[in-house]
Amino acid sequence: MNKSEPLGEFDLIRKFFDRPNLHRQTGSVLSPISPKHQDLLQLGIGDDCALLDAGDGSSWAISSDMLVEGRHFLPNVHPADLGHKSLAVNLSDLAAMGATPVGFTLSLALPSAQDEWLAEFSTGLFTLADAHHCQLIGGDTTAGPLTISITIFGKVNPQLALKRSNAQVGDDIWVSHVVGDARLALGGYRHEWPMSSAEMQMVAPRMHTPTPRVALGEKLLGIAHAAIDVSDGLLGDLRHILQRSHVNAEIWIDAVPASATLKEKSLELRRLCTLCGGDDYELCFTAPVSKRDAIMAIGADLGLQVTRIGRTLERSAELEIQLLDADSRRLPENLEQQYLKSFDHFK
Ligand code: ADP
Ligand code: MG
Repeated sequence: MNKSEPLGEFDLIRKFFDRPNLHRQTGSVLSPISPKHQDLLQLGIGDDCALLDAGDGSSWAISSDMLVEGRHFLPNVHPADLGHKSLAVNLSDLAAMGATPVGFTLSLALPSAQDEWLAEFSTGLFTLADAHHCQLIGGDTTAGPLTISITIFGKVNPQLALKRSNAQVGDDIWVSHVVGDARLALGGYRHEWPMSSAEMQMVAPRMHTPTPRVALGEKLLGIAHAAIDVSDGLLGDLRHILQRSHVNAEIWIDAVPASATLKEKSLELRRLCTLCGGDDYELCFTAPVSKRDAIMAIGADLGLQVTRIGRTLERSAELEIQLLDADSRRLPENLEQQYLKSFDHFK
């Protein structure tokens, strides 16, 4: 890496915070975890949730997500939407593991205590929490720049949990519902491309009030091999599955499902939003070919579209995602590279 280049989000986590060797040195004086507790830690940094043995055969699935004004939401966002989204992004990480929500903590930094704002924020938050029977169990409150940090706790069978590391060669790659609308809306707000107010009305809710696919995740236990939620962009997030599973992939980019609004846009914009757009919180998952019918039945049962968008391939040397167009032709390399770049908070 070039010395003058800033560290990316994932590089800095790996460099300063992820300590897999320490974790594994059970019994060593270097280990910060006692051997007794080591047995409880089933999965650490690097997946959508960590897994801790719950002692009853199931595991606690734990995840944290933070939203910062100006970075994750616009200053004029509706407080009820913000309450919803703060919890939705955390529920989405449970969904990506196939875990069932149990409870969450809420840490708030607020520039000032405004009664009306807090009433709306908490209503948005609790409406979603109640829909998932997920209890607020604690937190912290301080003055400061508007920041919302939630840690969420769910339960899952550790043998079936949808780990990023479990994709197998020859798996189908699937995505739920449609992707790209949140990015399309963001571009509208930023005047990156023209959007009519009717179009914004269609796609803006996908950015402000995403739907975590909790029921889908739960139903995929024992069916799918691996899953991730699409928070940073479909290709970038899929890359995490491929990396941890040591497989490659081909993606049929024009088969990636888009909304009617996005389909009306140019092919270039549609590809950009579906492949690289973040904030969709749909599930991208891999499953054996033998489970196609079961997955279609789950989709029908939930009234949720599920679409096959590619397959995993054997890893030869480097991690590679091949992007194929509607005629099954590989995209030119420069275009492929452009799409493969994902969102990174520090670059
Ligand atoms: P997600 O998008 O699923 O929320 P992220 O991409 O934010 O996950 O993070 C990738 C992994 O790194 C996750 O396992 C997360 O728990 C972990 N992680 C992120 N930030 C830190 C940190 N400061 N210290 C330790 N682990 C972290
Ligand atoms: Mg995630």
